[in-house]
Amino acid sequence: MEKKSVDVVTQDGRKPAPAKPPGSSVNPFVNNNMEGSQQKLTFEEQIGHRKPSKVYMAILIVLVLATIAVLVPLVVIVLERNELAKEVAELKSAHTPQTCTSQQCIKSAAICLDSMNRDADPCDNFFEYACGGWIKQKVIPDDKSSYSAFTVLREQVEIKCKELFEREGKEDEAKPIISVRNIYKSCLDLDRINERNSEPLLDLLVTVGGWPVLGNLTGGNWDPTTFHFETLWALLNGKYGSDMIVSSWVSVDDKNSSSHILKLDQPSLGLRSRDYYRNVEFEEERAAYLQYMVDIIVELGGDEAAARSDMSDVMTFETAIANMSIPKDERRDNEKLYNIFTLEELNAAYPQINWTLFYDLIMPDKVKPILPTERIVNKVPLYLKNVTEWLVRQDNRVIANYMVWRLVNGMVSDLGQIFIDIRQRYLNVLLGTSSTPARWKRCVIEANNVLEFATGRMYVEEYFPAIAKEKTIEMIGNLKIAFKAMLETNDWLQEADKRVAAEKADQMRIDVGYPDWIMDDAMLDEKYKGLDFVADGYFENSLLYLRWSKVESLSLLRDVVDRTEWTAGPAVVNAYFSASKNRILFPAGILQPPFYHQDLPWYSNYGGIGVVIGHEITHGFDDGGRQYDKDGNLVDWWSADSVVKFKERAQCIVDQYGSFVMPETNENMNGVQTQGENIADNGGLKESYKAYKDNVPDEPLLPGLNLSADQMFFLTFGQMWCSVYRPEGVTSQILGGVHSPGRYRVIGPMQNNEVFARAFNCSPSSYMNPTDKCNVW
Ligand SMILES: [Zn+2]
Repeated sequence: MEKKSVDVVTQDGRKPAPAKPPGSSVNPFVNNNMEGSQQKLTFEEQIGHRKPSKVYMAILIVLVLATIAVLVPLVVIVLERNELAKEVAELKSAHTPQTCTSQQCIKSAAICLDSMNRDADPCDNFFEYACGGWIKQKVIPDDKSSYSAFTVLREQVEIKCKELFEREGKEDEAKPIISVRNIYKSCLDLDRINERNSEPLLDLLVTVGGWPVLGNLTGGNWDPTTFHFETLWALLNGKYGSDMIVSSWVSVDDKNSSSHILKLDQPSLGLRSRDYYRNVEFEEERAAYLQYMVDIIVELGGDEAAARSDMSDVMTFETAIANMSIPKDERRDNEKLYNIFTLEELNAAYPQINWTLFYDLIMPDKVKPILPTERIVNKVPLYLKNVTEWLVRQDNRVIANYMVWRLVNGMVSDLGQIFIDIRQRYLNVLLGTSSTPARWKRCVIEANNVLEFATGRMYVEEYFPAIAKEKTIEMIGNLKIAFKAMLETNDWLQEADKRVAAEKADQMRIDVGYPDWIMDDAMLDEKYKGLDFVADGYFENSLLYLRWSKVESLSLLRDVVDRTEWTAGPAVVNAYFSASKNRILFPAGILQPPFYHQDLPWYSNYGGIGVVIGHEITHGFDDGGRQYDKDGNLVDWWSADSVVKFKERAQCIVDQYGSFVMPETNENMNGVQTQGENIADNGGLKESYKAYKDNVPDEPLLPGLNLSADQMFFLTFGQMWCSVYRPEGVTSQILGGVHSPGRYRVIGPMQNNEVFARAFNCSPSSYMNPTDKCNVW
């Protein structure tokens, strides 16, 4: 089952996106690469043994001198003692306070050195300079389409969770914690899952009225005479969260951020982006997707020729939906996505669907009645018009085959190995991955996704130091001040807009580490009421979760928005900004090296988590976030002149990033689709540097690197984004992602940063220091 999550460093707080796939585990201190290990060992030995060996020499000298002293005049002894004093002074100067020699400094210095390519010119390609060593030492795990410093940390968190979930439970544990161990156990029990094979899915298909393609087989009990679109749609979406043809959900009302509202949008697609259906070059991906559907049906007992014929129709059907969908680039103006229809108006505008019936079937009793005056946000009027007019002309068998396929696709990974392998063959073509993740990893990620606050409690109790929260809050305060100071010197924003922007920054809510209530058993029980997982029914656990989470979210419709509610679990390596809550959130999982450590100098912490904080703050003022006010309402608070200037500046970023080419595929990046993230990256780096300079005195440097504090600030930032991609991973990221690949998350902001150019003494003609710089915030 895939849980919908809002993920901001990798997937921002805009539309819910599926949880990220898992990965394998490598501790950066234990590199597979011999060269890497040796560098590290040599380095540690130098630090560890230099002093004892000199002391040993000194003691020898003393002993020899003492012997001689019996025989020679006092003057000689004094002379020799002077020699000894010189030796001791030398020893001391080798460890002046100019160098930080705490354990963490030594560890971090070793990782920095190991990750760098010191032969590269930082002014020529800073990504290569910061990450060249890392890239050389990393092999992308078979189950991943890319690998990054972020993934490495995520894997460390997964290992910790594995141990926590596998521990023997205590007698008086809170029910949700027992549930964590149960769902983890049920997921790990592959023997039992294989034994049941396709049986639980076929049972499910029977209950939803059958999958036409299965014909006379079990699960093929489809009856064309009783087929009814709204009923099937409400059943699949309301009970199992399947997303098809039209997306429907409840979330915060963009124009009244204290209440919830019903929303409609175009749906997600089987292949990640609409381009896969439309562009000539993706024929192989489309063929793999079709083959995947056919193979699943054959494994369920279906006939291959019939499956191919039916699923070809399904492919045509979904391609039409892709063609009608509005491209991502044209979905960045939130005003255009906010179109209020009453239920009555919806029925009048799109009479092909009985909307009243749909909402009556899907909404929980708690929020009924849904009256004709009920207000609904229609994000895509044109798409809805086109798709509803088109839908009535389609064959019911194709519609039903497609709808049930969407349910099946969501459940395939919860079946036995045969099904997992079929899906893997398709993912191999789409993402270049050649194997599935280790079972335990998949199960850890799943448990962490579905019971994020129970797993978060387990993680925080064991691994989160209180001081990390304290220090992060202090840094956020400094970053906010820096942002406001930068507003003062800003030369393009109107004065009145500056004041409103400063207020918005002031009022931005901050959350760090974990929400306190998770430490209270009763509150944890209350949160997960009705979500009791069993240890021996993995498929049933999945279904229970899908139903529970859909009902939970629909039930919010009449509730006042809880601004304090966490939208992410604590055991997560990520950070978040929410426009409608005007809030930034930093889970416990990201508050550790390489982002943060209390024993590291501040230039490292500001170059790491500081820039992440700045990134999230700047999201409040990127092309999307700027459309919301300090209370999270979609309100235009900008003067016309400021908007023109903002757009000019944003266009500079769009053009700059749009000209970047990924070496793996020679593809250009999509500057429009990634502009919000790029604006946040650029602003975040500048704000964090300013906060660092304004608050931190000189500090000792890291040993062995021979880099200044400023240089270390930028190196720490650069190394956050060390990454390697498969060609398929690059394509998928460019087509579907809102973030730039790591390479350009480093190069882009650095090219625009004058302090960086000064810190590394880059000449104006160098690649990393172009004369024309983009500057939004
Ligand atoms: Zn972001």
